[in-house]
Amino acid sequence: MNIKEVDKFFFEMGPIRPPSEGRDHSLLIRTTRNCSWNLCEFCATYKSKKFSYRQVNDIKKDIDVARTIHDEINTVSSEIGLAGRVNRQVVAALWEENPHIYGEGAGDPETVSLRQQNLINVINWLGSGAKTVFLQDADALIMRTPELVEIIGYLKETFPTIERVTSYARSKSCLRKSPEKLKELHEAGLTRLHVGLESGCDEVLAFMRKGVTAQEQVEGGRKVADAMISLSEYVMPGLGGRRWSEKHALDSARVLSEIDPDFIRLRSLVLRRHSPLLAQAQAGRFAELLEDEVVEEIGLFIENLHCRAYVVSDQMANLLFGVEGQLPQDKEQILGVIAAYREMLPMEKLAFRLRQRLHSFLSVYGRLSPELEEKVQEAREALQKEKPEAAIKVDAAIFGLKEAFV
Ligand code: SF4
Repeated sequence: MNIKEVDKFFFEMGPIRPPSEGRDHSLLIRTTRNCSWNLCEFCATYKSKKFSYRQVNDIKKDIDVARTIHDEINTVSSEIGLAGRVNRQVVAALWEENPHIYGEGAGDPETVSLRQQNLINVINWLGSGAKTVFLQDADALIMRTPELVEIIGYLKETFPTIERVTSYARSKSCLRKSPEKLKELHEAGLTRLHVGLESGCDEVLAFMRKGVTAQEQVEGGRKVADAMISLSEYVMPGLGGRRWSEKHALDSARVLSEIDPDFIRLRSLVLRRHSPLLAQAQAGRFAELLEDEVVEEIGLFIENLHCRAYVVSDQMANLLFGVEGQLPQDKEQILGVIAAYREMLPMEKLAFRLRQRLHSFLSVYGRLSPELEEKVQEAREALQKEKPEAAIKVDAAIFGLKEAFV
């Protein structure tokens, strides 16, 4: 391997990216660290972490490291007769040939782990055609426009295969950028923004300390859409709790209908460990909805959406992955998925919920811990025998499975 500066051989990676970017195996490039706002009650992702900007030169160095890994993967693939194709054999060869980079004694465990994650990220990215990049962390739009333009330009120059560059952004940051700056970013190659709308209801936004009003969300979203940047808005079913459930559904549908984004993605509320909202719920100031109530809320929300977005339910916290389709033409079909769930018999609903949650868990973690295995078995047995305590057993198993989502 022709890597000279082994000590620096890694690029920074943040903790999360949207599920769609994971599915497309996007290359992850960190342009800022953590979240500058960091106050949302339901969010625990960056709570103990300090926000910071990154220097353009440091981000460029990260891109250079990704390029070196990219080149090494291609070289190794050719050497072992795969002609540039990537598979487990390439990973194993790179790993084995470079114990000074990927081996256990190659540095502090955090750095070695990061190098391994970098390798896997670039391998998967290459395997999917090296077309998409996601800029981390919570809000790349907070960067100064010339710097962001420079980074996108450098990415595209370094990897001419790139077709899509996306990022998370806060509605407030979208609103703060002038139409000219958003246009400049679009022309530089910023293809899509993933915006956490969460709710279009002012009471919910205020309670959750989202730091933005419904009207600001409309204006921020419209600005992005007018700049021809693809817009993906996330809404959080359940976020209004029992108190605002109906208003949350109706106002969110109204706001999203006004924005008319390209995508509306559902990301149901999960009370996250270490989130202020969990403490609020424990203190009785927030009443979480039951799963069936969340389904009802989603039904009301979809019924009242009047826009041309593609609706997606691709987040592991969701129950109904079938809630997906192009509006307006697929609205009835989407509502049909909700109606089909509603019409299930109580035991069928329980079995369905257990199956879905188990599937989500296993798709991420691969297997159950002995403790969870026992809970799931107990739930299955109670369901099979239609025992009166089936609901309690299923809820206990689902509670254990959902704990892992947080
Ligand atoms: S803006 Fe996003 S990342 Fe930041 S605290 Fe809110 S939900 Fe979390």
